[in-house]
Amino acid sequence: MKTTAWLTKEFILPGTVSSIRDAIEKAGGNEIFMVGRLNDDLMVTEVDVYAMGNKTAVPALMKEAKCGDVIIHNHPDGILEPSDADIEIASYMGSQNVGCYIVDNTVEFVYPVVRVMKGRICEKLTFSELSAQFQPGGNFARNLPQYEYRKPQVEMLKSAVDAFNEDKIAMIEAGTGTGKSMAYLVPAVSWSIKNQERVVVSTHTINLQEQLIEKDIPILRTCCGLDFKSVLVKGRNNYVCLRKVSNVRSDGGTLIEDKDRRQLNDLLAWAAKTRDGSKADLNFVPQEDVWEAIQSEADQCTRLKCQFYDECFFLYCPEKCSQRRYFGHKSLSPDGRSDSTQGNEGVRCRGYFTSLPENYY
Ligand code: SF4
Repeated sequence: MKTTAWLTKEFILPGTVSSIRDAIEKAGGNEIFMVGRLNDDLMVTEVDVYAMGNKTAVPALMKEAKCGDVIIHNHPDGILEPSDADIEIASYMGSQNVGCYIVDNTVEFVYPVVRVMKGRICEKLTFSELSAQFQPGGNFARNLPQYEYRKPQVEMLKSAVDAFNEDKIAMIEAGTGTGKSMAYLVPAVSWSIKNQERVVVSTHTINLQEQLIEKDIPILRTCCGLDFKSVLVKGRNNYVCLRKVSNVRSDGGTLIEDKDRRQLNDLLAWAAKTRDGSKADLNFVPQEDVWEAIQSEADQCTRLKCQFYDECFFLYCPEKCSQRRYFGHKSLSPDGRSDSTQGNEGVRCRGYFTSLPENYY
C-alpha cells in the first residue's frame, strides 16, 4: 500500500530521480539518506548520499543540510507515511527551512513531509553601523564610564560580521581584556533581530553563561537599546528527567544506598514542585550519584514515546516559549562545527558561538 498522491516528477528533476534510484540499488534496496539541492523552482537538481542503512532505518546526518536544502530518504516497503522519528526530524529541520521528503525505492512517488519555503533572503549586517557603537562617542562610550576603545575588539567584530554575512565559520583567538563577549554579542543579537533567527552562544562553563545573562546581555540592552529575548539553557544533565523520577517513585530507587535515601526523597519532593527542573533550582548540592538517578540523559531519553514529553524540563525552554531546544556544549569537529555525541541534539541556526577554554588545543 502506498500512502502518497504525489509524483516525484513534481519535486525532483528526472536526471536526479535516476541518480537516487541508482544509489538505492547500490545500497541493495536498503534505506539511504541524502541531501538534495533545489533550484529556484524548488525542484531537486542534485543529491549527495551521506548514509546507508538497513530495511527500516538509516542514520540521519542532519548537519549536512543547510537552509533551503531538502533531506531525502527512502522507505523500502513503499509505505511512505512518516514514522514518529521522521516527523520529529522533519519538524526540527523544517524550523530551519530544510525540507524533508520520503520516496519509495522506485522513486516514482514522494511524500513531502515538509516543503522548503521560497524566497527566504537573509538581511545582512552592516559592519560600519555596528562598529560605530564601539567608537569613542558611540553607544558604549556614552553609557559606560569605564569604556575604552579597543582596536582588537573591533577587528573581532569585523570577523564575526563577515562570518554571519557569508555563512562561514570564524575561529578567533583573542586575549583577556579584548572585550570578546561584546564583539560577538553585538552582531549575534543584531542578526537575530534582523532575520528573526535564533542565535546560540555555547560556553565551556555555566559560570560564563551566567556572566553573559546577568552582566553582558543587560549591558547590551542598556547601551544599544536592543529589544530581544535571551534564555539561559544548560546542558541536559543539569535537568531532572520526569520519567526517571516516576520510575524511582515506583521502584523505590533500588540502586540507591540506604545512606543516600534521605537525599533521594528530598530530590523527589523537589521534583514535584520545581519550576524549571534545573539543578540550580535546588537549595542544596546533591551528591553526584543520587542526582544521576533522576537526571536527564540522552541515551536514556525515550523522547516522543515518553509520557512526560510535553512537560519535559529539558525539552521545553524555561520561559515556556514553546520552542524545543536541542543543544548543549559540544566538542568541535575538525571543520569547527559543533559535533554532537548525544543522539540528534545539535544546533541548527546561523550563529553558533562556542567559547573554548584557553588550554583547548
Ligand atoms: S522526554 Fe526524555 S528527558 Fe524528558 S522526561 Fe521524558 S525521558 Fe526524561
